[in-house]
Amino acid sequence: MFVKVALNLPINSTFTYKVGENFVETAETGKRVLVSFGNKILTGIIIEICETSEFKRIKEIKDIIDDEPIYTDELIEFCKWISGYYISPIGEALFSAIPRKINITSEPFYSLTENYKENLDKSNFSEEIYNEIIRIFEKKGNLYFTKKQIEKRLKFDDLGKYLEKLQSEQILKTENIYSKPTAQKLVKVIKANFSKHGLTSLIKDSCITSKKQISALHKLLEGDEFELNSYKKETGISSAAINTFLKKELVQIHEIRKNRESEEIFSEKEKEIKLNSEQINCIERISDCLKSEIFKTFLLHGVTGSGKTEVYINVIKEVLESGKNAIVLVPEISLTPQLIHRFKKRFNDKVGVIHSKISDGERLDTYDNIRSGKYKIIIGARSALFAPLKNIGIIIVDEEHDSSYKQENSPKYNGRDAAIYRGKLNHAAVILGSATPSLESYYNAEAGKYELLSLPNRASEINPPEIRIIDLLKKDKPDFTEIKKDFFETIDKVRVKFFSKELLYEIGSRLEKKESVIILQNRRGYHAYLECQACSNVEMCVRCNIALTYHKSFDLMKCHYCGYTKKNNNVCSSCHSTFLIPKGAGTERIEEELVKIFPSAIIKRMDSDTLTSKKLFHQILKDFYDKKIDILTGTQIISKGLDFPEVTLVGVINADIGLLNPDFRATERTFQILTQVAGRSGRSEKKGEVIIQTNHSEFYVFEKVKNHDYKTFYENEIKSRQALNYPPFSRLIIIEAKSIDKNLTESKIKEIYNLIKNLDAEKRLEILPPNIPLFSKLKDKFRYHLLIKSNKEKDQSGKYVIRILNEVKNYANKNIPKKVMVSIDVDAVNLL
Ligand code: ADP
Ligand code: ZN
Ligand code: ZN
Repeated sequence: MFVKVALNLPINSTFTYKVGENFVETAETGKRVLVSFGNKILTGIIIEICETSEFKRIKEIKDIIDDEPIYTDELIEFCKWISGYYISPIGEALFSAIPRKINITSEPFYSLTENYKENLDKSNFSEEIYNEIIRIFEKKGNLYFTKKQIEKRLKFDDLGKYLEKLQSEQILKTENIYSKPTAQKLVKVIKANFSKHGLTSLIKDSCITSKKQISALHKLLEGDEFELNSYKKETGISSAAINTFLKKELVQIHEIRKNRESEEIFSEKEKEIKLNSEQINCIERISDCLKSEIFKTFLLHGVTGSGKTEVYINVIKEVLESGKNAIVLVPEISLTPQLIHRFKKRFNDKVGVIHSKISDGERLDTYDNIRSGKYKIIIGARSALFAPLKNIGIIIVDEEHDSSYKQENSPKYNGRDAAIYRGKLNHAAVILGSATPSLESYYNAEAGKYELLSLPNRASEINPPEIRIIDLLKKDKPDFTEIKKDFFETIDKVRVKFFSKELLYEIGSRLEKKESVIILQNRRGYHAYLECQACSNVEMCVRCNIALTYHKSFDLMKCHYCGYTKKNNNVCSSCHSTFLIPKGAGTERIEEELVKIFPSAIIKRMDSDTLTSKKLFHQILKDFYDKKIDILTGTQIISKGLDFPEVTLVGVINADIGLLNPDFRATERTFQILTQVAGRSGRSEKKGEVIIQTNHSEFYVFEKVKNHDYKTFYENEIKSRQALNYPPFSRLIIIEAKSIDKNLTESKIKEIYNLIKNLDAEKRLEILPPNIPLFSKLKDKFRYHLLIKSNKEKDQSGKYVIRILNEVKNYANKNIPKKVMVSIDVDAVNLL
């Protein structure tokens, strides 16, 4: 019997091992095994069992780690698809599905030496324990055991000194190997041994007179069991008292596994919701699909505030009733406390949350709770798609347009697209929800591939906010100074740089009315960059082709890509002149200006510099919700998902950031972020307004945002996509080569370019000559990009281009020196 094993290595193949007799019974796909690979022992995953193997010299597996498979066939199938479609090693996909902590980490493993018998004869061990240890190894045919495993088998507490002795006599050896960590958290709990009725007489019989102790015993009646530590703290009784209770058999104490789950700080007021007819219609159509148990994808296009969350909650309720489970993907999970709160309120402890900021311990507990069936709904960022959830009835991808669904490291999968594949494997319904659907998804809906559902109005009959576009370069603007003379007289004393009079006026009037304001500036730091007036040099990162951003709070210039920092000594690094001029503004500077203009307002800034923890982030949102903050300013972090009834004004300082990037999705992104942030305004009866400042009001995207006109925007964009053969009309693939040697990299990307041209004998692909991306150098490595557009008409299922890409990959592995890193990005999102 043989098994194909996937290892967590950047190698795109599986490895065949023989299954020794001891393991024939227990070897199963989906279980982890220990195997030797080179001179190492690694954890692998059995993904196939075979009767025969074409290889001659095959090693045996060393051990089977799991009693039960930790991967279902379905999850393995899903990972195989990720690996095949995104040209990435199967091991990488499989290992991203399990918490790191349950993997084998390095801890010495013991095994017998080759000549252990002779050495054993030479040494004189008087204690039987030595023989017992050796017998463990002999019984299983010289395997690897950790100290803990040997101790467990022998029921012996500390074998350290015996193992050391055996090692020094060269009977046992250890290897740089790995062990199964136990990362469960156990806590002691205390429980009453009595009932309510018997307590008084029991206290008397046990001669307990201390008031504190009596009330502590009463406390135990308030619940089933209590965590010992907090019980002690609350009641104030001592360990000695607890021991007395134990002796008199009044209480029991035992250990239970504690579920590590971070508490949610965010909460909001309960409200009664009666679904409107549009919501009901969407729910009914999804419900029909759920009943038929046929895979289908829906695109739920619901304007901001249309109540998509209610639709999700109601269809999930139905899924759970039918005994199935649900996955809900959201972008950057720590940013959506409100959604989690709403789900937890409806589904209580059936909800598990997975995201990048949870601790290893929490991750492990969540994982176990999914496997045990406790969690029926998993909410998480893209990696939650790998949850070992069985029997999936629905997968929801909220804000499906969000680019954070695309993973930028291998496997470079797109969570949205992969969700559809996993839904297919499960005969489930997949719902993509957004107020600003990606062009790809909307196109698929128009083409009939997805069913389009729409919520064209805000829930509870609230009008969308009024949006004003302010062109900062145009002079003919209404004069507000006359209407509000006093206000502008005080402001004139501050040198206002980034706020138009309109925006200032509106902010001022919201503050008077005690309403809340959101100000978006999608760039962090203080200045965008520093430019030398003498020679026009811009201070750059020494490692990347990226301008350094000045951060006032750290008094440092910082590279936003690699983190390189430099003190700002106000000297041009090129001509040594001292005339450095700050250009542009980041959130820090906007915050500073706001504070100067509105000194009595409470202002908070939210960007990745201030959000050092999830807790802090949720606290700020809670304070904003509770009206303890007047103005919230920040990057796109504040543009997503927030449903705060008190916000009646949203201001965008500079809507042009990103708009001019050399990226065919730049306009689409601008439309999305502006529409999303505008959607935070006017979510209750109070009228909402939005002011968007730009230097390019002539761009058509602004008019579409202003008129809430997704449809015409879509029609415009899709035409140019078609004309230029961009997605959704083609699959876009980027092959990147990078290294510290610019010339070598350039010659290698050219080599690949020629190779692909030869491979594409049928000329079905559009292959663009290699180019230098906007960020030509990152972390000291020079970069080249090669763009391939594979037209979907000519390459229906993508098989043609995938085959070619695999050949490229094999070629690169064999023929391109290791120092040039070649990577393939299928359905690339990041072009810069
Ligand atoms: P979206 O995600 O579509 O932007 P939300 O799901 O956050 O919108 O809903 C917006 C607001 O409308 C929420 O406060 C929600 O509680 C409320 N809401 C949803 N459905 C209804 C309804 N049928 N009637 C009244 N309010 C509703
Ligand atoms: Zn850098
Ligand atoms: Zn200079």
